[in-house]
Amino acid sequence: MPDEFLPIARPDLTEDEIEAVVDTLRSGWLTYGPKTQRFEAEFAALTGTKHAIAVGSCTAGMHLALLAAGIGPGDEVITSTLTFCATVNVILHTGATPVLADVRHDDLNLDPEDVARRITPRTRAVMPVHYAGQPCRMDEINALARQYNLRVIEDAAHAAGSRYRERPVGGLSDASVFSFYAIKNMTTGQGGMVTTDDDALAEQVRLLRNHGLDSNAWNRYAATGSPFYSVLAPGFNYGMTDLQAAIGLNQLHRLQENNRRRAELAARYTERLSALPAIETPTLRPETGMNWHLYAIRLHGLNISRDAAIDTLKQHGIGTAVHFLPVHLHPYYRERFGFQRGDYPVAEDAFERLISLPLFPLMTETDIDRVCTALEAIVAQNQA
Ligand SMILES: *Cc1c(COP(=O)(O)O)cnc(C)c1O
Repeated sequence: MPDEFLPIARPDLTEDEIEAVVDTLRSGWLTYGPKTQRFEAEFAALTGTKHAIAVGSCTAGMHLALLAAGIGPGDEVITSTLTFCATVNVILHTGATPVLADVRHDDLNLDPEDVARRITPRTRAVMPVHYAGQPCRMDEINALARQYNLRVIEDAAHAAGSRYRERPVGGLSDASVFSFYAIKNMTTGQGGMVTTDDDALAEQVRLLRNHGLDSNAWNRYAATGSPFYSVLAPGFNYGMTDLQAAIGLNQLHRLQENNRRRAELAARYTERLSALPAIETPTLRPETGMNWHLYAIRLHGLNISRDAAIDTLKQHGIGTAVHFLPVHLHPYYRERFGFQRGDYPVAEDAFERLISLPLFPLMTETDIDRVCTALEAIVAQNQA
């Protein structure tokens, strides 16, 4: 009789979240309104930024941030090949050309030296992706941005609550965009947040988020609102609802506690798995404070493939994932941009070894031990 299935992630929702949603339903105000505004204010406080703008997803937020930064046709935007497709899709949606760079072996974050090699006269922006929640080498990336006059828009989908040199992710560059998708380290079911200290960029993101309507339009159906509005730009319907924000506020209040719990569980993984030479545990750069959104190991020197190891874990009732199949190996980008295997050797080598293990605050120490025991057996049976 196999144990109960252990998924890679499970949202940590309490009665408080459930009640908050019900209260919002009863309030009669479902879309962008007072709850979302409070969520924005509290998120801005967390990240120490002047602005936090709630959006329907990280993808929507990155699209808006790029447009607000003036990125468009003819421009090149450099990002990591080891990311989710959304990072590259939003670049394409602006009409700009994505330019992929390789990652560093240690933390699987964007390699600033490879970014530097790929800068051309057309390069206008860099999009660092904070892999697994560990912040990128932002000093080096910001230095390149200053030198070549580039905008920096961070894909902070993994990084709610992470820190870099004692500063929260969110205020480290022109703009950062967070994800509250169901399996992220904080969730609103689906949702995202753009943070920035740049007033003009914030104003443009707010405008484009709501169809391009002027800023007083959100409460045009309320007693205190005005029914008149003007369209100032052809915008999108990319906003967050008060139903999502009600969940997000509660999630935000528990973020630090949940991230601490993740760190505890991650430490237990590292303690047991670092005894196995065949398993490379995550490398933490000392200047980063990680939220442990993901715990990704790499396999070395086994006579079993990564895919077969994943299959064996699945037979043990253990769910895993691979973050990520590099962007340049997906058929669409490969065909459109002519990428080849071998173009990004560090990301490709990592991809063939990577397994993201279950990690979420509701896990127990017993769950961690169960995964470690399964991995120990895989290693013992497949020593090369
Ligand atoms: C989840 C994720 C996204 C997309 O976030 P959504 O909120 O689902 O749009 C973007 N980038 C990375 C690296 C992600 O993991």
